[in-house]
Amino acid sequence: MTQAQKNEAKLQKLQQQEILLIGANSLPELIDIVLQQYRDAYELDYVSLLLIDKDYEIRHVVEFMSPGLLRLATLIFTDSHTMLENVLIAQAAIKEKTNPVDFQKTLFPNFKNEPYLGKCSDACREILFPSIYKKPECVAVLPLMRHNKLIGSLNLASFDPARFISGTGTNLIQRLSSILAVCIENAVNNEKLKLLGLTDALTGIHNRRYFMQRLEEEVVRGTRQDLPVSCLFIDIDHFKSFNDLYGHSVGDEVLRYVANIIKQQMRLSDVLARYGGEEFSVLLTNTDSELAQEIAERIRLSIANAILRVDSLPDDLHVTVSIGCTTMKDVDKQNTTSLGESLLNLADQALYVSKDSGRNCINVADFTVPAMAQATH
Ligand code: GH3
Ligand code: MG
Ligand code: MG
Repeated sequence: MTQAQKNEAKLQKLQQQEILLIGANSLPELIDIVLQQYRDAYELDYVSLLLIDKDYEIRHVVEFMSPGLLRLATLIFTDSHTMLENVLIAQAAIKEKTNPVDFQKTLFPNFKNEPYLGKCSDACREILFPSIYKKPECVAVLPLMRHNKLIGSLNLASFDPARFISGTGTNLIQRLSSILAVCIENAVNNEKLKLLGLTDALTGIHNRRYFMQRLEEEVVRGTRQDLPVSCLFIDIDHFKSFNDLYGHSVGDEVLRYVANIIKQQMRLSDVLARYGGEEFSVLLTNTDSELAQEIAERIRLSIANAILRVDSLPDDLHVTVSIGCTTMKDVDKQNTTSLGESLLNLADQALYVSKDSGRNCINVADFTVPAMAQATH
């Protein structure tokens, strides 16, 4: 009876964890559930998650969404499946009471990526539990499989030698790892789609949608914290002539080239986007007017001084840009509605002054909140 009650409680706990996993809204949330909540709920000494990430896709997604996670010692990425396979073989060899080399020779052909419960091999400690202060008494290594492919492993460690015992039932744990594998695959795919919706396919930088989202956020944050926010609007001069003279694909090449040069001048906290056609917008956080103009001038010069060599063309190309610049100031903290829009419009107006003044130059617009925005108290 007591055993039945215990099992029932165990099952309920597991189900709760499964519901949490399935309900996770994003990849960072899923990782947090696995690494923090799971460890606490099961009173484990250490939990790590290893993900095989050959093309750095997952790392890019995580870096974009929640870069702090990449610093966690418990979130491990590997470029290939061999490292994890070696750990699984080392663990399986313990179970079969043989050494990994003999195991690989004799038993490896039948080797299945099954959950391992029991003692921790050196390879296991080194790779799956790199920051643990002493070797765990026992571990559970749960391979995560999707479509018969190893995608990673969930790794649990305990200093209680009776916690994970070799040969004990692994059905429940196997079920959890199957669910986790599906959830991870789903979350990565979702985030990739989202990312795709926020980047410009031609240049690889952000698109207008992302820029507008960040603009609103940064303007509100800047206002609240009394930090200056600046905006640049950059337009390639006579861009149409590149298309007309050399064709659309050379035009595309020029766009990629300009995007790259601007990106090189940016700081990590700045946001660069392709706003449309041959126009780029730059959001400079915590940047006053003086610094914004310096950055704008750096961008202008680096493009004007660079020479673009296109393989299919006999001559080098020279590209210049015109820039409009503005910095938010004297803002009414109670009303941040359309501030971002005002900032962008003013930078755009300043850009047109640059165009009228002969191109390849910078113009600065004074920040004023339009009457409409001021009136919406
Ligand atoms: P200005 O100095 O006044 O800015 O002149 P401009 O020729 O740069 O500006 P205009 O707006 O007349 O022309 C922009 C051109 O950019 C027109 C459009 O066909 C072209 N364009 C827009 N998007 C793309 C793209 O993705 N690839 C290529 N190759 N051309 C594009
Ligand atoms: Mg234009
Ligand atoms: Mg142009």
